[in-house]
Amino acid sequence: MTNEAPQKIYLADYKPFPFLIDGVELNFDLAPRATRVKSKINFRPNPDSDSREFFLHGENLKLISAKIDGKEISPEVTDLGLTADVPDAPFVFEAVVEISPETNTALEGLYMSGGMYCTQCEAEGFRKITYYPDRPDVMAKFKVRIQGSESVLLSNGNPVEQGEGFAEWHDPWPKPAYLFALVAGNLVAHPDSFTTNSGKEVELNIYVRPGDEGKCAFGMGALKRSMTWDEEVYGREYDLDIFNIVAVDDFNMGAMENKGLNIFNSSCVLASPETATDANFERIEGIIAHEYFHNWTGNRITCRDWFQLCLKEGLTVFRDQQFTSDMRSRAVKRIDDVITLRARQFREDNGPLAHPVRPESFVEINNFYTATVYDKGAEIIGMLKRLVGDENYKRALDLYFERHDGEAATIEDWLKVFEDTTGRDLSQFALWYSQAGTPRLKVSEAFEDGTYILTFKQETPPTPGQPEKDPRVIPIAVGLLNPNGDEVRETCMLEMTEEEQSFRFSGLAAKPIPSILREFSAPVILERETTNAERAFLLAHDTDPFNKWEAGRALAKDTITRMLTDDSTVGSDLLDAISKVLRDDSLDPAFRALVLALPSADDIAQTLFDAGHTPDPSRIHTALETVALSYATHLQDVLPKIYADMHVDGPYSPDAEPAGKRALQGAVLSLLSRLDGGNQARAQFAAADNMTQQLQALACLLRIDRGREQLAAFEEQWKDDRLVMDKWFNLQTALAAPEAAVQTTEALTKHAAFDWKNPNRFRATLGGLTGNMAGFHSPDGSGYRLVADWLIKLDAANPQTTARMSTCFDSWRRYDADRQALIKAELSRILATPKLSRDTTEMVTRILGD
Ligand SMILES: [Zn+2]
Repeated sequence: MTNEAPQKIYLADYKPFPFLIDGVELNFDLAPRATRVKSKINFRPNPDSDSREFFLHGENLKLISAKIDGKEISPEVTDLGLTADVPDAPFVFEAVVEISPETNTALEGLYMSGGMYCTQCEAEGFRKITYYPDRPDVMAKFKVRIQGSESVLLSNGNPVEQGEGFAEWHDPWPKPAYLFALVAGNLVAHPDSFTTNSGKEVELNIYVRPGDEGKCAFGMGALKRSMTWDEEVYGREYDLDIFNIVAVDDFNMGAMENKGLNIFNSSCVLASPETATDANFERIEGIIAHEYFHNWTGNRITCRDWFQLCLKEGLTVFRDQQFTSDMRSRAVKRIDDVITLRARQFREDNGPLAHPVRPESFVEINNFYTATVYDKGAEIIGMLKRLVGDENYKRALDLYFERHDGEAATIEDWLKVFEDTTGRDLSQFALWYSQAGTPRLKVSEAFEDGTYILTFKQETPPTPGQPEKDPRVIPIAVGLLNPNGDEVRETCMLEMTEEEQSFRFSGLAAKPIPSILREFSAPVILERETTNAERAFLLAHDTDPFNKWEAGRALAKDTITRMLTDDSTVGSDLLDAISKVLRDDSLDPAFRALVLALPSADDIAQTLFDAGHTPDPSRIHTALETVALSYATHLQDVLPKIYADMHVDGPYSPDAEPAGKRALQGAVLSLLSRLDGGNQARAQFAAADNMTQQLQALACLLRIDRGREQLAAFEEQWKDDRLVMDKWFNLQTALAAPEAAVQTTEALTKHAAFDWKNPNRFRATLGGLTGNMAGFHSPDGSGYRLVADWLIKLDAANPQTTARMSTCFDSWRRYDADRQALIKAELSRILATPKLSRDTTEMVTRILGD
């Protein structure tokens, strides 16, 4: 049985909607299985369109009645929407529909989570609420009235009237339907307020379920810091009387920037020292900032169509990265971001799912909320800023806000403000948006008569649908060190535009050691013949923190890959270099923790594959364990002292400094556990008064195949806390020994608390396994089978999360023929499932390729 080929949508086919909207009134009469939605929409012909075809999107709706200018009509209704004859003049469309939030398990549109009503409309969820032109370029002012028995009834904009069983909200800012939101529940508020730059008083609330009130203070602080930062750095003020955040347990994404009413996955907003780790706190701060920043980059200026998704997401990710850099350590933030970029985006860009930052076509837009659109989209903004300079960047952004406020814009509009500000021609730079694939940058060098010449050659491998690529503009930040370790040339920005290009540095006394691609100035793969002695030199002397870390990372990767290809052992060059960094008290503990961390198994697998080898997941696992044990043995005299030195006195604080100390302490504990059988970890677990240290200790024990007792104690302590229990599920599947991982996961899916319809729990459990490379790629195919079984089951309930999770198979071509055959069989089995969703069909088809 095969599925009907889903229809593709193309960027080139864009046409404006034939009508404009002068106002929308919505009336919700809430009931779990029979919510009535009345709509009244004022349309008028769009002078920019020559069509008068009236089609409104609508899915899973029961149409009760429809009227045009007060007269009942009988429109033509299909699974996708409604068509009607309309006058060639302004008219009023009214409809009454019935929907069933309680049975909506896809979590798109209006649905229920833990007894409360909530919505998710991006990208195309509004069409599951009522008939409407559900596209981002149709912007309108909404008036919403909600009738329900819940104590809290919320929508976008400002509250205008509230009473027993009803509330009315008016949003004065025109917006597309994907930014619509509604929440109704018996919730409690964590209230606060903020005074904007111009003296406007804004009421702030974080709404949560009763019992979670104690987990809101940090999120509220993060919101206020974000509001201040956006005023100071981008000159952007908030524009409503009220800003609400609501925490929801069942949510496909991290959070959603609905105008004035952000809806958050509870894991991305709730935090207390006892229940959230340092990493959770940092992520929450970043996501709250991200969603808040969308108020200008996304809401006030939105996207013309979904192909322009990177216009709002790339820019807003870049802005939240800048914010976190300012709140915490710029160096550590950059390294963290590059680790994520390489793990997610480079993997995507080098596999069957590679697509341009602005795709040319899609079947299901939900499948394009990807690392490429978000993270590479943000890298493009960073490159643009490096190329034009900070001052011009600021001027261009001011122009962008001034020129496009209230509009649905395109990438062309975005680049035009930079061209108009600087006079530069950005047509070649625009290739970053249209060409997929990660460029390889080969470097060669020469030194003669005091002149050092760096020659770069760029090449981007073919990607699906794009066999040939043109050379891109690549900003390459370079500094030079002399053999004593002193910097003889400060960082300069080389601008590469040709396929091959040389740059000269004259007046040098000796051949310098280059530090190339400082601060990771472009999302490329640098290929340069070098020695481990030079890597150790840069790790010791580079003034650029990113490249300093990068040198250590390259040294570790070279060691591990050579262990796997030439059976070599862990050399003293790596061990001595790591030891020096670890003992250097002048370095930030968070930075030292990053240097101590080993590259991921996935990173090693991709590196081996790129070098023409077939990676063996279980051998990679063994090699990583061997290096960790070598670190532990080599550093054993210093580990206990550093562990003690990193102790933080006083009450827990999630700030960067104490968090950095705990990060280094945790990295040290992981090594110590390999020597002391877990004694120190057991002590830390018993004494921990915060989740960071409790979880670190438990992870250390599981990594050495101990900790059964602690696992049981942890479950007993936290069985009533949903978010902490996600960690409990995840840790076991992610850290299980390769031969036990599938069995452990299978057992956990039978646990009473495994609620598979909850995306957080599903991702924590199955995602832990797929991230456990040697376990997931078990040679008998049991890992693939288990994951495929669950994806088939989940697809019927929640296509969006299923499609996203199916990307765990995207690296299948890396592996040996047996594994490839096993994976292909599972992918084919998924594809043959009757009634498989459009989301999953598209994703699995792309992963399989030709
Ligand atoms: Zn976003």
